[in-house]
Amino acid sequence: MDANIDQIAARIAGLRKELENHNYRYYIENDPVISDEEYDRMFRELLELEREHPELASPDSPTRRVGAEPQERFQKVAHARPMLSLANAFDEAELRAFERRVHNLLETDSIDFVTELKIDGNAVALKYENGILTRGATRGNGVMGEEVTGNLKTVRTIPLRLRMEDALPSRLEVRGEVYLPLSAFARVNEEREAAGENIFANPRNAAAGALRQLDPRVTASRPLAFFAYAIGETEGLKLHSQIEVLERLRSWGFPVNPNYRHQRTIEDAIQFCRDWQERRDTLDYEIDGVVVKVNSLAHQELLGVVSRDPRWAVAYKFPGKLATTRLLRIEINVGRTGALNPFAVLEPVQLAGVTIHNATLHNEDDIRRKDIREGDLVIVKRAGDVIPQVVGPVREKRTGGEREFRYPDACPACGSSIERVEGEAMAYCRNVHCSAQRLESLIHFASQGAMDIRGLGPQTIEKLLDLGLVSDAADLYALTQEQVARLPNFKEKSIGNLLASIEQSKSRPFDRVLFALGIRHVGESIAELLVKTFGDIARLAAAEEEEISSAQGIGPEIARSVRSYFDMEDNRKLIERLKGAGLQFASSGQGKVRGGPFEGKTFVITGTLPSLSRKEASEFIEARGGKVLSAISSKTSYLVVGADPGSKLARARDLGVAQLTQEELLKLGQE
Ligand code: NAD
Repeated sequence: MDANIDQIAARIAGLRKELENHNYRYYIENDPVISDEEYDRMFRELLELEREHPELASPDSPTRRVGAEPQERFQKVAHARPMLSLANAFDEAELRAFERRVHNLLETDSIDFVTELKIDGNAVALKYENGILTRGATRGNGVMGEEVTGNLKTVRTIPLRLRMEDALPSRLEVRGEVYLPLSAFARVNEEREAAGENIFANPRNAAAGALRQLDPRVTASRPLAFFAYAIGETEGLKLHSQIEVLERLRSWGFPVNPNYRHQRTIEDAIQFCRDWQERRDTLDYEIDGVVVKVNSLAHQELLGVVSRDPRWAVAYKFPGKLATTRLLRIEINVGRTGALNPFAVLEPVQLAGVTIHNATLHNEDDIRRKDIREGDLVIVKRAGDVIPQVVGPVREKRTGGEREFRYPDACPACGSSIERVEGEAMAYCRNVHCSAQRLESLIHFASQGAMDIRGLGPQTIEKLLDLGLVSDAADLYALTQEQVARLPNFKEKSIGNLLASIEQSKSRPFDRVLFALGIRHVGESIAELLVKTFGDIARLAAAEEEEISSAQGIGPEIARSVRSYFDMEDNRKLIERLKGAGLQFASSGQGKVRGGPFEGKTFVITGTLPSLSRKEASEFIEARGGKVLSAISSKTSYLVVGADPGSKLARARDLGVAQLTQEELLKLGQE
């Protein structure tokens, strides 16, 4: 039993020490080495151990204190009322538990809440005397802060003089969050990276760095902003609720975040948390959660404070977007254009709600600039749906055993020598028969924006290549039933489906085919431009570089890439075989589609069609030689009508233009 207590005491001491170190890195150096999630996990473990063993509690534990001691280089400011932290809730059950606690303590049913976005910035206290800003301070350790008035005066959205002066209390303290908008955060980090300095892990650390400068001119160069959310020490002000506080702050001229809401029940508050977790990326500032506050100020007063957190509020924390993990090794993926893309193989880590195993590293220059080594502890980041990225290494945690990455001289897939293009960060494998490029280019060819061959995903393509059934895109069109049957898990129905979707893909218009070829720099819109300008493949393949680049929207780099694609015999042969298979190599009205069932006919579409999008319907018409126009006239051959048609329907009736449903259109197109 005693040994057990000793172990627990040792664990508690260890956690306290570690959390203290992290506090120092976070609050003083603005340079944390672990993610907030990891910090919160340790913090919670310590909280629980201290709760279970009150005899081991200590008043100087990090669980009892807010932030960090104010720094010597600033004048100290005593807060008239302590600036607190917030207890965390990591899931919905913890929010419900918060409500039950409040309920029991207040012994009343009529509790309403306010939900506010939790801005990832720094809390400050602004003192106004007769409506004039006289002092600004950081939160510091909650009791003592740092005087940063000069710096706060550079924050443009902090009012220096308040509006409605006659309704103002003569002494007023306003609290809120100073933050750095995301656009500015990205710029600050770029500048630091260029100067070889450590980048800030999050906007909060960047804002803290800017706020705690000795020279206000440096602060002024960072466009900090402010949101007010509370009133501190004041005299003669009678307000009853947090909603009134926010409204009053706004009327005095403070920026108040507009996304707050009065909530009648905890379930409504939970829904608000869910919604903002989804929408957090739509804002130009980082939020790390939602603060749920009891609305009534009288209730807040009754509930009071425990240790460092008010009992009347809780912070619902979103899953973090940053994590630290070990970079095990760097590998190279060869893309369809032959580009050698380095990526990090990571020790699996939870990030923004999913487990990630890999993260992108961009290119060789990036690895060198950030000095990322194999074996490093690294910070990884995920924003929105973007592929996770390695932000940078945690240099302090190096053991000396880390290995600098040497870029290969040969393609890791086929062994051919690689080429570096002057002025480009990427290296390329130039072997057109490279197996990795084959795989990637077939994946691209079959993908949704290109030939959209349903049922032909990356794994099936890999198997087809492994079995030697295909080696390029043209081989797909020669696949037989017996061959497809050799694929694992392919039964009668799936074989039929795959062959049918390969067949269907033959009707994709020329611009999609051109995009599907995977010519470097030729994305969807460039393919469309090329098709508009050149009309068919023969003209495009014969065009000189200058002629290609003279087309509007096509730069010299694209022109060079297109020319060199057609200069390669293998590519020309592939196109001949694809043509032979029946793919479209001319734009509508030209070449292949000449003689199509819609030749010489014009179509206008109105309303929503049952299953085809506008784009798909237009493609269907154009692939059969028809033209799609936007305005109706007496010369229009058909009006294709969907649900909720516009005024075009009445006009077609007036002009006697024939109408078609989607079904009739499809039928007519088959003839
Ligand atoms: P907190 O950030 O979890 O919550 C309290 C703060 O929220 C307030 O002080 C205020 O500044 C802010 N806030 C934003 N919007 C608000 C609003 N609308 N209403 C009220 N307050 C609002 O707590 P904290 O004590 O400031 O910091 C602790 C947190 O910091 C930890 O949970 C952890 O995530 C992070 N941290 C990380 C490390 C690390 O090494 N990674 C170290 C220390 C702290």
